Amino acid sequence: MQLYCESLTSYKRLNTLEIKIGDLLLGNHHPIRVQTMTTTDTMDTAATVAQTIRCIEAGAELVRITAPSKKEAENLQLIKDELRKRGYNTPLVADIHFTPNAAEIAARIVEKVRVNPGNYVDKKKFEFIEYTDADYLEEIDRIRMRFTPLVKICKEYGTAMRIGTNHGSLSDRIMSRYGDSPMGMVESAMEFLRIARDEAYHNIILSMKSSNPQVMVQAYRMLAQTMQQEFGVCYPLHLGVTEAGDGEDGRIKSAIGIGTLLEDGLGDTIRVSLTEDPEFEIPVCLDLVKRYNLRTEQAKKENLPGENSAEIPPVISLPYSPFEYKRRQSHALGNTGGRQVPVVIADFQTTETITPQSLESIGYRYDPQMDKWNISDGAADFIFITKPQIEFALPGTLKVVCPQQLWKGISDKDKYLPYFESAAYLEDKDIPASAHFVLFDTARTDLWDAFLKVVQQKSHVILCLESSHWHAMPSVRRFIARLIELKINCPVIIRVESSKDSIDEQLIHFSTEAGALFLEGMGDGIWLWNKKAQLQNMRVSGRTYLEVKDNQQFLNNTAFSILQATRTRISKTEYISCPSCGRTLFDLQETTAKIRAVTHHLKGVKIAIMGCIVNGPGEMADADFGYVGSGPGKITLYKSKDIVKRNVDSDIAVEELILLLKESDAWVEPEGVNTKN
Ligand code: SF4
Repeated sequence: MQLYCESLTSYKRLNTLEIKIGDLLLGNHHPIRVQTMTTTDTMDTAATVAQTIRCIEAGAELVRITAPSKKEAENLQLIKDELRKRGYNTPLVADIHFTPNAAEIAARIVEKVRVNPGNYVDKKKFEFIEYTDADYLEEIDRIRMRFTPLVKICKEYGTAMRIGTNHGSLSDRIMSRYGDSPMGMVESAMEFLRIARDEAYHNIILSMKSSNPQVMVQAYRMLAQTMQQEFGVCYPLHLGVTEAGDGEDGRIKSAIGIGTLLEDGLGDTIRVSLTEDPEFEIPVCLDLVKRYNLRTEQAKKENLPGENSAEIPPVISLPYSPFEYKRRQSHALGNTGGRQVPVVIADFQTTETITPQSLESIGYRYDPQMDKWNISDGAADFIFITKPQIEFALPGTLKVVCPQQLWKGISDKDKYLPYFESAAYLEDKDIPASAHFVLFDTARTDLWDAFLKVVQQKSHVILCLESSHWHAMPSVRRFIARLIELKINCPVIIRVESSKDSIDEQLIHFSTEAGALFLEGMGDGIWLWNKKAQLQNMRVSGRTYLEVKDNQQFLNNTAFSILQATRTRISKTEYISCPSCGRTLFDLQETTAKIRAVTHHLKGVKIAIMGCIVNGPGEMADADFGYVGSGPGKITLYKSKDIVKRNVDSDIAVEELILLLKESDAWVEPEGVNTKN
């Protein structure tokens, strides 16, 4: 094992123990299983059965159902009986929070139970309490007493268990010793895992969910390493980004977190949590898993004698930590690199004619009456062109990258920057002593040494890295690690091309390939480019989630959303919305859409929209404001972790949220709104 996975450079699944959930085998190189969770009231047997069937027919291999109390746990029997009667044998999972009694009933009925170690025995009070070593051990004994009966039942009934830690619901005990950290998440699960192992119970899977992909990725990596070091084996991993939200942002956030781990072979089952009907999560899961089924096939082929092409140089010692975020050191060239936010390059190479209107898709709107550009927070920093085609004055903040031959004939050298393909660059002719871009395909391992030797001597180069390797992201990551080893500090733009057919697949491809590198702190810019997807508005559940005007807009939005999800450049409001479940107290999809409509212009503000007060406040992690269901027709509003307005009537709750934002100086009027009376 290399730090936390089998290999950082060739694709291999992590060796995990095999577990059995009903008839389903999971872990130990079995296919990556896909799953979801119902959103119906568990006491409504007919609705839950119907929704479970829709999920199974969409491809779910496991379906989770909430069991908030004993009566719901008991009703799982009716749900299971009805499903089996109709010929659906897919294993069911009971989702438990706070109620060991419900868990002990459910474990006798369904094939798997999920417990959250942050709230199975502990109640989170958001209090900072100092624990002595003796106090701490006493707490562990208390957990052992409360948790062991469930372990024994699971063992007796052959029921599997997920120890599912959530970043937002760590116990006060864990918080006091480890803080709100990935290590705290790992220790929270390990406490429960050690107890289960002491009972010789191993039918266990673990998860480390967070709404922040950075925290989630670090926690899973640490968990894999910790299990290996402490037990010499790894239990299988259930991957997910919790409260990812809906539409494009939910898909991007999920793909970045889950995809980054799958790239390194971590993950035996996945759930994409979207604030949408659960059956719509499954196609996203299947698209994600498909990438790694292909990867496994390719890896097998590469291992055949004579087939091994362009092997990525193995890692001897890693010059960065995969367990913490630290941006790679680079020097600034103009607005790129150094401590500046990553830049976005919009690729116009296939656009025949560029007009002021063309720039609307990348965040610039020209007002001819005022002769002024309106620039949005999601406006690209550069455009890439290959022909002389701009016959109007560009906005001041937008620069142009163009091939060096074209650049030579342009007089405005401030506005235009030259671009080289690596072959021409290696010839070392006509290289200016000013900022210039160079494209390099890191799959060309035969050129690494020669190329790095040239780059090492240049102080004005901005590298644009892409990879045609079948294991592309690790190929780029390995090359950047070489830059770090050689102390080459030029800025790096991550360039990703997609030839996938659908918007969904392109979103997943871009998010995984580019997002994984931004999570490692490795990008000073992003450049997405595609063979056009079949553009269509993304419609889910009768609502339009992604209005796709044109390909440029799609690529620009995706680039900014990847930077937002990796928290490297904030350009819009962030929503942390739970996927909803049987505990949900209002229509989450409709409410999220309503809140989004009035707050989408609040750049950098994090708003959580959570279905219930039992789990919501704990799960909303680092949100600035929370809108939480606290009873039928009632909403409680939070500022950070503090209740500000309790049990507000839901009819006026959105207006009350706006008032709270105003009182907290987090509100700005949307563009075009006249605030004068
Ligand atoms: S926060 Fe949302 S998904 Fe989580 S238990 Fe409450 S309603 Fe269900």
